[in-house]
Amino acid sequence: MSYYSTSNWRRLSRQVKERDGFQCQVCGDRMGDPYCVLHAHHIIPYPLGPNVPENVITLCDLCHAVVTPWWRPQWFRELTQVQMQALEEAHRELVEFLALAPDARSRCQADLWACFGITRAVAKGRS
Ligand SMILES: [Zn+2]
Repeated sequence: MSYYSTSNWRRLSRQVKERDGFQCQVCGDRMGDPYCVLHAHHIIPYPLGPNVPENVITLCDLCHAVVTPWWRPQWFRELTQVQMQALEEAHRELVEFLALAPDARSRCQADLWACFGITRAVAKGRS
């Protein structure tokens, strides 16, 4: 049986989504938004990385597909060379972003959103 169908993973996945305010920690998509499906993602792939909340983060299915090639077929089919390169670039950026410590990620997002005049810390979720 795959680890991802165990009750241990379901528990960890739920715990991480709660911690993250049921919000994608990359794009800010929230549970309940149209088409939003949330996944829990191992930052360092399991079993290489530890199976602990610190190594797991909430992503929407689209951001997850950018980070994890396994999830791509449902989103990206028959890409042109240019699209493929853009996807690889987005992949590298997201992997770098996810490798940051959580507070550094929050600062990064706060800086980005500040450019648009949004001061709420995205990582804190719905208040
Ligand atoms: Zn997302």
